[in-house]
Parts: sequence; structure tokens; C-alpha cells
Amino acid sequence: MSGNGCPLCSLDLSKERVFYEDGYFVVIRTKTMKGHSERFMIVTKEHTHDIPYKAFEAALDIAANIGRKLFKGRGKFIIMDSTFATINQHWHLVCTDLDPESKDFRQILKTGWLRVIDC
Ligand SMILES: [Zn+2]
Repeated sequence: MSGNGCPLCSLDLSKERVFYEDGYFVVIRTKTMKGHSERFMIVTKEHTHDIPYKAFEAALDIAANIGRKLFKGRGKFIIMDSTFATINQHWHLVCTDLDPESKDFRQILKTGWLRVIDC
């Protein structure tokens, strides 16, 4: 990633909470937590809206594995699709707990859930 006016490309990853990184994806804590104990996203390093199906499946597995550690003991967490995405240049998915007290809980209920995972 390098600075080009895109908020995500301009991120200094050394200052972010990075949970995972490979040549294609990075998993980082989201900038706004919206009242959740943890909230993170898996995002492509390159600008793209579509990723190959195999990469999509890999992203779900990576996010699920990281979520099982980060949300351990919280019951369940979900991987959401990008319906209400604020970043539109990078393909990404957000993972969050299901805290009814969180600020975006209503929005979470309106968003498509790709996976619900017990933890
Ligand atoms: Zn970018």
C-alpha cells in the first residue's frame, strides 16, 4: 500500500493493529469500533471490487480463524458483507461481535451475514 489519496492506502500499517497480512490481504482493526469490544476487517491490498472465488473463500477462512481467537468467550461473531461499506476502492469484509448495545447494532441486523461463527 502507498499513499495516493485513498484513506486505506495512506494507512501506516506500523501504527495500526494488524492481525494478519499476506501478499493479497491485510486484516486490521477498524478505525471506528462503534461500541464493540473488537471489530476488524479483511481487506485487499490492491484496489479492486471483485476477487476470485478462491480468494473469497480464503478470506472467509482467514477472518473466521482470527475471529475465533479475538472473540473467544463472546458466544458468536459474524462476517458481514459490504452493504454499508465506507471504503469503496478496496474489496473488504467486516467482522464484529453481536453486542445489542453497540452503536451500529440496527445496521448489523440489516446487513447480509456471510457467516455466523460460534466462539
Ligand atoms: Zn486504496
